[in-house]
Amino acid sequence: MQDCIFCKIIKKEIPSQVVYEDELVMAFKDINPLAPVHVLIIPKEHLANVLDINEENADIVGHMYLVANKLAREAGISEKGFRIVTNCNEEGGQVVYHLHFHLIGGEKLKCFA
Ligand code: 5GP
Ligand code: ZN
Repeated sequence: MQDCIFCKIIKKEIPSQVVYEDELVMAFKDINPLAPVHVLIIPKEHLANVLDINEENADIVGHMYLVANKLAREAGISEKGFRIVTNCNEEGGQVVYHLHFHLIGGEKLKCFA
């Protein structure tokens, strides 16, 4: 997707603070963190949001949760707790139309991503 910000982050055309990368996903710090830990986990395949998940590509979602699990432990927020959020379409608060999980924690959470 030519104009997608997150596809440009994957291609390293836009810099980001990468915390994890493999052949399927990338995770990087949110540019506008809502909590001490705020990481975005995205598939390398461009999917607009959860509505693009189908029987062929659904495995990516399990992989994104595995990465979230690993990063939450590494960030030291697994025991106290954290939140994983994915926004969909306008009323869901989605701004960037490339599927992403917000991994948020490091304090008692009041906000939504
Ligand atoms: P959404 O509202 O679509 O669920 O979340 C999009 C998130 O992407 C927001 O939390 C926003 O701060 C983050 N974001 C937008 N542009 C960039 C960027 O260029 N770099 C990084 N690291 N995060 C971004
Ligand atoms: Zn994209």
